[in-house]
Amino acid sequence: MLQFYNSLTRKKESFKPLKEGEVSLYTCGPTVYDEAHIGNFRTFMFEDLLKRVLILSGLDVKHIMNITDVDDKTIKRAADQNMPLQELTEKYTKMFYDDLEWLKIIPADDYPLATQHVDGMISMIASLLEKGHAYKDDDGSVYFKVASFPKYGQLSHLIFEEQQSADRMASDEYSKEAAQDFALWKGWKDDDGNVVWDAPWGKGRPGWHIECSSMSTEYLGDHFDIHCGGVDNMFPHHENEIAQSQCASGKPFVNTWLHSEHLMVEGGKMSKSEGNYYTVNELKSQGFTPENIRYQLLSGHYRTKINFSLAKKQEGEKIVKRLSEFKARLKAESNETKLGAEFPKEYQLFQENLFCDLDTPNALAVFFDYMRKINRKIDNDNMGEGEASAALLFIEKFNYIFGIIPDDNAIPGEIINLMNERETARLEKDWALADEIRSKIDSLGWNVKDTQSGSKLSKK
Ligand code: AMP
Ligand code: ZN
Repeated sequence: MLQFYNSLTRKKESFKPLKEGEVSLYTCGPTVYDEAHIGNFRTFMFEDLLKRVLILSGLDVKHIMNITDVDDKTIKRAADQNMPLQELTEKYTKMFYDDLEWLKIIPADDYPLATQHVDGMISMIASLLEKGHAYKDDDGSVYFKVASFPKYGQLSHLIFEEQQSADRMASDEYSKEAAQDFALWKGWKDDDGNVVWDAPWGKGRPGWHIECSSMSTEYLGDHFDIHCGGVDNMFPHHENEIAQSQCASGKPFVNTWLHSEHLMVEGGKMSKSEGNYYTVNELKSQGFTPENIRYQLLSGHYRTKINFSLAKKQEGEKIVKRLSEFKARLKAESNETKLGAEFPKEYQLFQENLFCDLDTPNALAVFFDYMRKINRKIDNDNMGEGEASAALLFIEKFNYIFGIIPDDNAIPGEIINLMNERETARLEKDWALADEIRSKIDSLGWNVKDTQSGSKLSKK
């Protein structure tokens, strides 16, 4: 029933887990050197959607997401800020968990930290050395020998030149035998400071790619069902993971690879290096609700680029409001219990779209058509027996997948906007305006109380 586009075969395939009824899922987590941006969260949200759809289809999901708390970027940032590595990474890991929770992303079963799993990485590298898939360098580094794995390039569909001549290795300029060889272990350098582990071949630290190979197999076994990430992870990260894992275990690694497209800003990829990014906290202070961000990130298909701009805020607010009003209308209409109610026929179509490679745009279109139809019936006082209860069942599943209808007690976007405007007025000491906004908030059913730790809201 379920079909996913597998990046490995470049085809839509029927999905069948290795173990009946259970899916093993590994998703590459954040590099915790800074706050994650909503481009990162597009990928994490797509992975959450995948998980919810797998669960909806009746499968149990075991989900592991790693935390990259040691790599070039984390070490550099900690040094720049004159901070111990762990203090820096703990700070951003905590922020990451807070953002996940605020965005209503279902937590993974485990978030293994790379720094806590170095022993497993050393064992995997030792096994690659023993089998002739890796070689040591004089500075204590260990490289993976790409030429020893003829299937290299199967995921990214890249063709690599023949291995470069071995005599390059002897020259000082090249510590690697071939340009595409990559580090499994990075020999210690001054810049690494006290970020160091002992390995049989010398002190140093693991390369980024081995972190995921080692942690995924430690938690999910040598061969598991699904591995995900953003498209930029496909090469070299995932290609290298396949090479390391298959060569170390001698078994297949992952059956299905899924990659989400990027979140863009004015035509360019949202990224830290371009500086064109928004963090969740920035959007929060602009008055975005979790539901609005979820709508922005889930309304496009995961394999197409989405353009983000602050100007989309209003459109999202309108949709969320319309959905909340629909739910409230149905609740008022439905005086029967939901027990025994059946799903409307449109639910089947909604599900089929999701089961066919997570087609969220079409699933949303099915739901919005249905909402229009039911709203018309309510307007005309024409609802059939049990129809409101059936619609409520549908809406419950709809919201399980999308999470874009706020809880009844959640603060609406409109109120958050007003609170932000009032905060600005207060900062500018414009007390008349602040009072005017307070009355407006009051008329919308919310109380504002100014305390020493800031303004607090409560529902009347
Ligand atoms: P990082 O913290 O850099 O390791 O990235 C975490 C995840 O975010 C990876 O899976 C990336 O592929 C993904 N990612 C980074 N930038 C974007 C973007 N603009 N849109 C979607 N995903 C992204
Ligand atoms: Zn990874």
